[in-house]
Amino acid sequence: MSKLLDDILTLASPGVRGLRPYEPGKPISELEREYGVRDALKLASNENPLGPSPKALEAVRALLPELALYPDGNGFDLKSALAARHGVPPAWITLGNGSNDILELLARAFVTPDNEVLFSEHAFAVYPIVTQAVGATASVAPAKDYGHDLAAMAERVNERTRLVFVANPNNPTGTWLSAAVLERFIADLPAHVIAVVDEAYFEYVQEADYPDTTAWVERFPRLVVTRTFSKAFGLAGLRVGYSVSRPEVADMLNRVRQPFNVNSAAQVAALAALTDSAHMAASVRMNSEGMQQLSRGFADMGLETIPSVGNFLCVDVQRAAGAVYEELLREGVIVRPIANYGLPNHLRITVGSDEQNRRVIAAVARVTGREAGA
Ligand SMILES: *Cc1c(COP(=O)(O)O)cnc(C)c1O
Repeated sequence: MSKLLDDILTLASPGVRGLRPYEPGKPISELEREYGVRDALKLASNENPLGPSPKALEAVRALLPELALYPDGNGFDLKSALAARHGVPPAWITLGNGSNDILELLARAFVTPDNEVLFSEHAFAVYPIVTQAVGATASVAPAKDYGHDLAAMAERVNERTRLVFVANPNNPTGTWLSAAVLERFIADLPAHVIAVVDEAYFEYVQEADYPDTTAWVERFPRLVVTRTFSKAFGLAGLRVGYSVSRPEVADMLNRVRQPFNVNSAAQVAALAALTDSAHMAASVRMNSEGMQQLSRGFADMGLETIPSVGNFLCVDVQRAAGAVYEELLREGVIVRPIANYGLPNHLRITVGSDEQNRRVIAAVARVTGREAGA
């Protein structure tokens, strides 16, 4: 370590000193630059292979002449539309620069260095980051069958616990919780705990007993539900997400929120995307078909996958997945190694279009020396 880095580290806040930054999926441009490949395929960040709704694109185009103006810092139109969609007052909606922003606002608004933040093993990587950034202690409950073990989580709740993150479904594992078990868990939390249910993949989930927990906020005043336009809505590049909570909770988030945290293009695009139910239906259909295609493809070559209700699938490559990831990069295919999630033999692969799925299946077969099935 350089002397300067040493010096600067001592100036950083204690939480930041031990922080490891989030590792995003490798951008296509970076792979093409570094490996000299062309037509690279990225199935690493759970982006929608259909792209954004044409209505969203049109709304962004129409907005361009107004880019000299600040966005509406209160996001009136988008909040109103989201409120109508969820059957809640607009004051229950908080907009974020991606739902990641909301997760961070929650930590900053509610968590002190004396607190613990509770989440599951193999859960979304942003939870430990926002915890550590505010100098709090992460309490990590062991997973069960790769998913959240709510009994193990409940056991870890104590006086210091201030925030609980539940990803439903979870990224990277794709595991999910039914309404009954999740409702019991939230109902049993003590009054000094804010419960966050992260529903980034909500729109993709087809399971009958998968809950829409936005409907529970009325009953559980310390519940915060987060959603995003980055995944099924296909607007990851614009950065827009939101939470549904009681207005008293939203009030705290608004105190620490940047005044213009959601840009104007993101606001108009999200608003337009909400009206395009045909595009959403097509996205969900493509995902269901693609999920079957990938599951079958890996099963045919004798590789196990973790059953997933999201738009991504974890495959056990039966050896150090980092090396397989590197070999796939050389084939021009970007997936996600997840050793940093405690899953060193798995790769997370985003469900793509039919053609993209064929390509990733064939590439995995090649680099692992297996026969691809039919
Ligand atoms: C992708 C993702 C998010 C955040 O995405 P944003 O682009 O910041 O909205 C949040 N939670 C989970 C579990 C995710 O996978």
